[in-house]
Amino acid sequence: MDQNKRPRAEAWFRYADDLGIGPYYLDRAAGATPDFSGAPSFALGSVGASDEMASPAPTSSPAVAAAAVPKRAPDPAPPVIQRAAGVSLFESADRIEGDTLERIRTDITPTCTRCKLHKARKQIVFGVGNPKAQLVFVGEGPGRDEDEQGEPFVGRAGKLLTQMIEAMSLKREDVYICNVVKCRPPENRLPEKDEIATCSPYLMRQLGVISPKVICCLGACSAQTLLDTTQGISRFRGEWFDYRGAKLIATYHPAYLLRNPAAKGEVWKDLQKVMAHLGLQPAKKPRSV
Ligand code: URA
Repeated sequence: MDQNKRPRAEAWFRYADDLGIGPYYLDRAAGATPDFSGAPSFALGSVGASDEMASPAPTSSPAVAAAAVPKRAPDPAPPVIQRAAGVSLFESADRIEGDTLERIRTDITPTCTRCKLHKARKQIVFGVGNPKAQLVFVGEGPGRDEDEQGEPFVGRAGKLLTQMIEAMSLKREDVYICNVVKCRPPENRLPEKDEIATCSPYLMRQLGVISPKVICCLGACSAQTLLDTTQGISRFRGEWFDYRGAKLIATYHPAYLLRNPAAKGEVWKDLQKVMAHLGLQPAKKPRSV
């Protein structure tokens, strides 16, 4: 690129990112399309993933394990996140002594009417997976399939998420999967501010109870909610943040990947960071396709 044009181009990318369309341009600039139905395909199977997420992928000896996990340079400082003014939802959410996932589910109640999302939803989609997971994926809100089945990420985007999980040599049951809002926004629109404010304390409690090593935010809504920022996700995607004793990383939403397969390579890089942090190896052969 002509170096004189670089500042203007960078300013345009920043602007596009703030509008939420930055990744579209990045896709086009990225060139080759990684395919998640081959590696870094997310349709990869297991190398013998542990049934318990609590244990790293099996390795034959500590020496092998040490050799297998690539040595990482210290994480660079995360980008400065411009947070919204005031106390964030997360900071203001107290930990509740003796809290459990069942207690949170009971507190929400199946007949919750705390926000307007209750009007069109069929059921509350609380979350699913290993209550002691080391890795939690946080999405935005249930879609139609999830509203029907009462489980997060079971539609097309969910199938891709399952492939992503399996590419990490894990199973869906090893991780925990939940959303910022527990009820389906009508027409799959973005959850609104008041709905997020009403529902996200339950997400905070879920994260507090599970106490994972890594929280992986899927998409802007989840990342912006947990990091309390309005910055575009491509500004901080793939960076580590400290989050109440956990590490938090944001990546693109699987629904975005369905529309923009070229971004799969970026997501795979993010997942590889998560794997390195958890001592996991990529899976070797297809499992769920
Ligand atoms: N998209 C989400 O963000 N969550 C789901 O549960 C399904 C699709």
